[in-house]
Amino acid sequence: MNFDLDKLIRPNLRNMIPYSSARDEYSGNASVFLDANESPFNEPYNRYPDPQQKILKSKISKLFSQPVENIFLGNGSDEAIDLLFRVFCEPGRDNILTMAPSYGMYEVSANTQDVEVRKVLLEDDYTFRAESMLKMSDESSKLAFLCSPNNPTGNLLDIAEIIYLLGSFEGIVVVDEAYIDFAESKGLLPYLQDFPNLVVLRTFSKAWGLAGIRLGMAFASSRIINLLAKVKYPYNLNILTQEFALKQLMEEERKKEWVSEILFQRAKMAERLRKMKMVEKVHPSDANFLLVKLDRPDELYNYLKDKGIIIRDRSKVIKCEGSLRITIGSKIENKILLREMEDFMSNPKYAAE
Ligand SMILES: *Cc1c(COP(=O)(O)O)cnc(C)c1O
Repeated sequence: MNFDLDKLIRPNLRNMIPYSSARDEYSGNASVFLDANESPFNEPYNRYPDPQQKILKSKISKLFSQPVENIFLGNGSDEAIDLLFRVFCEPGRDNILTMAPSYGMYEVSANTQDVEVRKVLLEDDYTFRAESMLKMSDESSKLAFLCSPNNPTGNLLDIAEIIYLLGSFEGIVVVDEAYIDFAESKGLLPYLQDFPNLVVLRTFSKAWGLAGIRLGMAFASSRIINLLAKVKYPYNLNILTQEFALKQLMEEERKKEWVSEILFQRAKMAERLRKMKMVEKVHPSDANFLLVKLDRPDELYNYLKDKGIIIRDRSKVIKCEGSLRITIGSKIENKILLREMEDFMSNPKYAAE
């Protein structure tokens, strides 16, 4: 494979000098800080946060068995997605490859930056073929976004196909593993050393139950990580997020219990849904949601909405026609949803003709 990182980087970034904050320039053990125009009052929140997030990164490094220099931390993994565009994609000229159907943020970031999106349709059973993606690529294809397990289809991608793409594509392969904790797979982190063009995205928003603090990760070669660090806002992670995350990451056992409870609830919910007459198909899931194909999805969606139950309407999405996406919630939430679905079916107003 001809992977040449220098060729992929946007020319304006090659010699760009990044913003150097007061805290970047001094990293010793001082006790009097008169360098950053901060207030002397309201300790410790008067101080700017650590721009390199050293303490949090070293904890995450242990947790994921990856060296600190291979880790980027962002304001959600959405920040890493956006920065990848800013590092690699020349507006109005370059393009990216994505799968369809998949997560919407890749396209939103592409549109903001005026970058063309080339979508590769998944097979009817949602399998991904690397060859179909390679066929759509050219010398201006900078990034290929894969999502595994995929949102909204719920399935893990075949690792052999991902490896094949990594070995053949001359751009960066980004594998978004937001839902990997719910799957029986270690994902792509064990392959990081083998592929200089691999970026793995992880998040604390799903299995860790921390969507509200906005913390996402990108794992990649130290060269790619340094490029992301160069273009990020200097203080992209605030003190509250860094401190709170550090505390919560001590509770890995609790997170594992949450995941097993969600997997248990997922199996129960799938079983109940499969027995319903209106349900045509419950797609197998490696994530914390189920994609369900059923009769009259619009009517059911609106019926549930009126009852104060919100699920995700994916019925107009390509290859998801007629399907709704249901997040696995607490035991009680799931029970309420299933009861309302039963009510919908038995309500003569909605009964199938
Ligand atoms: C939920 C989700 C994320 C999480 O994004 P954050 O910005 O980290 O909250 C990332 N990728 C996919 C595919 C998701 O569904």
